[in-house]
Amino acid sequence: MNGPASPTSYHWSVHQLTEYLVQVSEPREQFAAIDAALEHAIETFDAELGVVMLDNELRASLGFGRQEVPQCFLGPLRDNEPVEVPDIGRVFVARGDLDKAATRGTGCDGYMLLGRLGREFSAEESQLLQGMALTLGLVLHNLSILQAERTRHRLVETLLDIQKAISARRPLNEVLDAITEGAWELLGRGPVALLLVDPASPELLRPHSLDRYPGFDDEAVALARGALAGEGANWEPSALRSRPLLAAQVVVSGEAAGCLIARPQGHAPGYRDQAELLNAFAQQVSLALNDARSVDAVRKASRDHITGLPNRAHFLQKLEQERLTSVEGNTDLTVLFIDLDRFKAVNDTLGHQVGDELLAEVSRRITTCIRPTDTAARLGGDEFAVALAHTDLESGRGVAHRIVRALANPFAVSGREVLIGASVGIAASAERHSDASALLGDADIAMYRAKRSGRGRCVVFEPYMQEEVADRLDLFTDLQRLATNGQLWLAYQPILSLASLGVEGVEALMRWSHPVRGLVPPSVFIPVAEETDLILELGAQAIERALADMASWHRHATGLRLNLNVSARQVVDQSLPEIVGAALAANHVPPELLTIEITESLLIEDPELARARLTRLKDIGVRLSIDDFGTGYSSLSYLRQYPVDQVKVDRSFIAELRDNATNDIALARSIIELCQRLRIETVAEGIETDEQLRLLKELGCDLGQGYLFAYPMPAHDWLTWQGAVSSRRGLSPPNLVSASS
Ligand code: C2E
Ligand code: MG
Ligand code: MG
Repeated sequence: MNGPASPTSYHWSVHQLTEYLVQVSEPREQFAAIDAALEHAIETFDAELGVVMLDNELRASLGFGRQEVPQCFLGPLRDNEPVEVPDIGRVFVARGDLDKAATRGTGCDGYMLLGRLGREFSAEESQLLQGMALTLGLVLHNLSILQAERTRHRLVETLLDIQKAISARRPLNEVLDAITEGAWELLGRGPVALLLVDPASPELLRPHSLDRYPGFDDEAVALARGALAGEGANWEPSALRSRPLLAAQVVVSGEAAGCLIARPQGHAPGYRDQAELLNAFAQQVSLALNDARSVDAVRKASRDHITGLPNRAHFLQKLEQERLTSVEGNTDLTVLFIDLDRFKAVNDTLGHQVGDELLAEVSRRITTCIRPTDTAARLGGDEFAVALAHTDLESGRGVAHRIVRALANPFAVSGREVLIGASVGIAASAERHSDASALLGDADIAMYRAKRSGRGRCVVFEPYMQEEVADRLDLFTDLQRLATNGQLWLAYQPILSLASLGVEGVEALMRWSHPVRGLVPPSVFIPVAEETDLILELGAQAIERALADMASWHRHATGLRLNLNVSARQVVDQSLPEIVGAALAANHVPPELLTIEITESLLIEDPELARARLTRLKDIGVRLSIDDFGTGYSSLSYLRQYPVDQVKVDRSFIAELRDNATNDIALARSIIELCQRLRIETVAEGIETDEQLRLLKELGCDLGQGYLFAYPMPAHDWLTWQGAVSSRRGLSPPNLVSASS
């Protein structure tokens, strides 16, 4: 800048031009090229001030010291226009455009402006400056092409990495972080943030990653909202100092799901390129979210929403994989089929929400009993299954027992304690299994067997069980027809006063005359009917038939009482009181003559429900009896809690009664005495010998029933039997026995 040369002494040699070109084109970054060009120009023209403007931004300045470049120096100035620069003085300016407006050869929108104190620029100088500026423009143009190429290359690499992360199903957060990171890197490491719409409340924008946007501010939020509302990206060309903010929408299934915002740093890619870059990253976010959603949808479709466990379809797929692996590697594979014992009653009484809570807790307990590599699933309703890879039958049995124990502990749901329990069927993968369903089917059959042999059991599948199941299926099919074809009838067995041997009443017992199987005992067909609502239909028919029979007998013997058996399922069903009430009314039978027999099991399994249902039955005026008393686990004190009128002491106790069987006598005595204290009538079931009769009489038992007096008999035989007995005013052993069941 300090040279005595006059304006006219500039005669650029080829050498000088080459030197300028080398200096300006050497740098790999635009800003360095600009700095070099400006320095060179100021030196060449011995100017005091100089700036380079590019894309409406000040890119370089020299000679202003610490002060900012004044606006007066930035305006559109003509050559040799004098400008008064504060603190410096009056300068003449010369301007060289980086591109000729007419040709747009370099595509650079900018200029170099020099200011010289006291001396105008000659035409020659102006021309030279123009040449230097054009050279810079050319260099910048080349650099920007190179830069764009580099950016494109890095973009491709970054996007590839992101694509890999998405298809490898990396966790969504990780993928989104990688995208933000990539955008940050490619946009000159300026702040970048991702904002996502909260699906629960769409008016909320949740920042996903702010690591790369430390100064995240209101302006950014406002911009994001604008972008989401479809106003597009925000660009303020006049903002020279504050960097412009860019925004790109994230769209998932046609809906705005969020936006990526950035404040790009550096000048390499132009604004349009930056916006495009950001858009590319926003699209990656869309892809990642979309993919995550479809993965989630698939996951949901294969999961049970209450427990989060795989559902039946998914379990069968998994089991099939395990089965093939075990066949291939000749390794063990065992399946458990778990059925909850009292779930339905809980669901019916406490409601579905409590039921769902219970199922979720059941699944947690099952999961704690198995290894992380085992697969637990909810098959539906109250059925669960577990696949145990590399596990033989014996170890499988161990797991099954562990599960049964875990589920036998009380459950705390909605502020109360609920007792359920489970039965488990166990089957090991074998050659006979053609697929996973066959294997699971065997475990199911074993579970069924477990359930029938008493609850809370674990049973291993045996081939004979298959036939048993097939037979029961046949039976069930026949039973369904039974309701309409008149094969069902009732047998009656008298109940006598043990003191007087006078007939007090009669118990109705269901009979089924099967055309092929012959007389099927209720102990066979009732459990089958009880597995479905078929028992409700059969039970209702028995109630109606028995009361109709009773009405016809009352013409002969008034005051005769009727005992009717109902299954727990009928009691749980809401309509039982109406059915009984209607049958009583239709046949003009006083309700107090009817005694409904229920078994203990209901009282133990669900005391709450039992109390509620029994109270409703009591409300219509009928009497209640506990059948087969003593076979369940109920303690005697249980009786106090229910509105019970009668207890039928189970046949197994009576069978043991002999003069020298002191323990059995003591047992029978304690039951009878307790009932007496509670004013509950006692009935002894299955009296077969005179000895039993005598002992029971001595113990003070009220009533009795058994082959000693009569077998159950068809209604017309009963009428004859009863007529004969009443004409003799009671039975006197050796008695009259009608064998007809
Ligand atoms: P339960 O109610 O305890 O009926 C008494 C059973 O003992 C009857 O068997 C009867 O035939 C039998 N029995 C009577 N006296 C003697 C005896 O001296 N010795 C022996 N060994 N057995 C005697 P059944 O008729 O086979 O009925 C079996 C069970 O089926 C009944 O036991 C009852 O639980 C059920 N059941 C019968 N009818 C119905 C019905 O209509 N509805 C429902 N839900 N269950 C029924
Ligand atoms: Mg009975
Ligand atoms: Mg009984």
